[in-house]
Amino acid sequence: MGDKPKVDTSRRKLLQTAAGALATGFVVATALQVEVAEAEERKQRRRYAMYVDVEKCYGCMACVAACAAENNVPISVFRTWVERHVLPGGSVVFVPKLCNHCENPPCVKPCPTGATFKNEDGLVLVDSEKCIGCGACINACPYGARFFNPLTGVVDKCTLCDHRIYSGRVPACVEACPTGARVFGDLEDPNSEIAKLVGETPTQVLKPETGARPKVYYKDLPEVASR
Ligand code: SF4
Ligand code: SF4
Repeated sequence: MGDKPKVDTSRRKLLQTAAGALATGFVVATALQVEVAEAEERKQRRRYAMYVDVEKCYGCMACVAACAAENNVPISVFRTWVERHVLPGGSVVFVPKLCNHCENPPCVKPCPTGATFKNEDGLVLVDSEKCIGCGACINACPYGARFFNPLTGVVDKCTLCDHRIYSGRVPACVEACPTGARVFGDLEDPNSEIAKLVGETPTQVLKPETGARPKVYYKDLPEVASR
């Protein structure tokens, strides 16, 4: 029997330490890469929203008509509507309303098929192929923004005209408004008009107590219309 090979323990330890350091370095590098990729993704992400200047709205309904024409909305239902309120002093205000594309939308969770979802840019949408028309989302929305579309047989709502905005246009209601009462844009873009308006003007959202975190911001919203 020959001699047992002599184990050089100090060399082995050194190798183990080096391997450990390499592995740690690899993990750190990977974590850094993930962080950079996530930051890049965040940069590309948009947060679409609407700003409504109530004082500029005079109730002409051009937005409602434009929305209906653009989205083939039947006459009995609305993706957007304009409320008329009489204030205690007797003056009249008009308040445009629509889906708030909530940050934390209560309409998404109750959907049993996943038809209702929030996309990566914060739009709350309905996949009509998946919708079974059960109405759970209609009941869950605190803003009355959803309806059953008699033409399609499924649930419908404002999409912020996603088919237009992803090709660089504004929603039909925004384009049609003769006074600029509605401003659409990306809150993530600090140079956008909406980011400046929301950042610099006192605004309110509807029913903040629901925790839905709506993304339609109102300027000069009277108390009577805030429900
Ligand atoms: Fe959903 Fe209603 Fe919020 Fe729109 S307003 S995202 S339908 S909860
Ligand atoms: Fe108001 Fe503009 Fe709509 Fe006319 S188009 S009702 S002014 S938001």
